[in-house]
Amino acid sequence: MKRLFLLIPIVFICFPGLSQSPDSLLIRKIFDNALNNRDAYNNLRQLCGETPGRLVGSDASIEALKIMKNYFEQMRADKVYLQEFTTDAWMCDSASVFLVSGTGKLKLLHCDALGPSSSTPEMGITAQVVEVHSLDEVKKLGKEALESKIVFYNRPWDNSFINTFYGYGNMVDQRGRGPALAAECGAAAVVVRSVTNSLDYYPHTGSTRFGEVKIPAVAISTLDADLLSKTLENDPGAKINLFVEAKDLKQITSYNLIAEITGTEFPDEYIVVGGHIDAWHNTQGAHDDGAGCVMSADVLRLFKDLNIRNKRTLRAVMFMDEELYQSGGVAYAESVKEKGEKHLFALESDGGAFTPRYFTVSANPEVVATLAKFQPLLHPYGIDEIKAGWGGVDIGPLKDQGIPLAGYGTDSQRYFDMHHSPNDSFDKINLRELQLGCGNMAAFIYLIDKYGIE
Ligand SMILES: [Zn+2]
Repeated sequence: MKRLFLLIPIVFICFPGLSQSPDSLLIRKIFDNALNNRDAYNNLRQLCGETPGRLVGSDASIEALKIMKNYFEQMRADKVYLQEFTTDAWMCDSASVFLVSGTGKLKLLHCDALGPSSSTPEMGITAQVVEVHSLDEVKKLGKEALESKIVFYNRPWDNSFINTFYGYGNMVDQRGRGPALAAECGAAAVVVRSVTNSLDYYPHTGSTRFGEVKIPAVAISTLDADLLSKTLENDPGAKINLFVEAKDLKQITSYNLIAEITGTEFPDEYIVVGGHIDAWHNTQGAHDDGAGCVMSADVLRLFKDLNIRNKRTLRAVMFMDEELYQSGGVAYAESVKEKGEKHLFALESDGGAFTPRYFTVSANPEVVATLAKFQPLLHPYGIDEIKAGWGGVDIGPLKDQGIPLAGYGTDSQRYFDMHHSPNDSFDKINLRELQLGCGNMAAFIYLIDKYGIE
């Protein structure tokens, strides 16, 4: 007992900076609060429960803005306002895919339309299927082989990537550019294997970019993709009947939501923290990206509750339309430029609310090095690295204005099980992981606001 007594002062003498610095104490306070507060969790429950399928242009997207606006007002943020802009949008009413065997037997596959797929005739399109594994293969086959056929992109996920975002990047060209290329080759429609590592019956939708010609395009579940592939091998007469009912909306009005806590020393300098409020039509959008929105909102709440007096104006942005046309992020950056608003830094969370792992910084190497020095202070809370990397889709357009960007990185292993599918629902959210995200984002912003970036 006596010995233990002697040891304690020695420990403090050896590590006075780390255990007792004002920053580490303040960050501890942030986490004490974050880990005992359920606002973000409750907000996310409400977003998921009341506004699933909140794609830009939908009524749900406007309701979602109202929920968060109401929350910021209750919190008594200094400013809460909508930033209006116009954009094209798209709405899917229904989609179906039947596998039609050579003998005429029908099997319904799990599918959903990619955005912005065009519609089929009322009876759908029935055609032979050509399975391919790359865009190059489609180029080689060309019009001769693909005219009036349904092109089926079926290159599977490569499981050897440790960070699943690389697995996604390796596969997503089939969804993103595959339909446009097939359309150029005269294909009648496209079916894409869902871009996920998970073998399941969820269709994982997502955006695709067309050129001049638009054709119907859908994702089918990975298990159905395997079934379709096998069927085509054994039954060359097999076809697909594909139906999509969707419409393009031209130049609609939509909004980003902005909430601010005014800076005490440099009120005209801004630090942005944000996520995207929209979600695909087939999902609650819990991890993607309701979580990013409620965690960003919680950063403001933490500053207010703990009376942290931010020097710069802290701005939470709920970006609209990350998923379809990225119009909210573009509108925000245009407004920054037009008003000449000085932005010190922008942080986005769009990787789900899983166990915290890192922040990635998109800026010059000196800025990355400066921010990396904060890592030891965040290490107790799960941040292993602050390193060069990706900022985010919504804040991306700010890059042209030389603004340092960062993304909040969580453990990536489960994200794509859910991504863009009905599986991304509120029950997949872990309270503590979400709270740790709130704490880490707030602590990182606190340090950047306090010390600047120069
Ligand atoms: Zn997202």
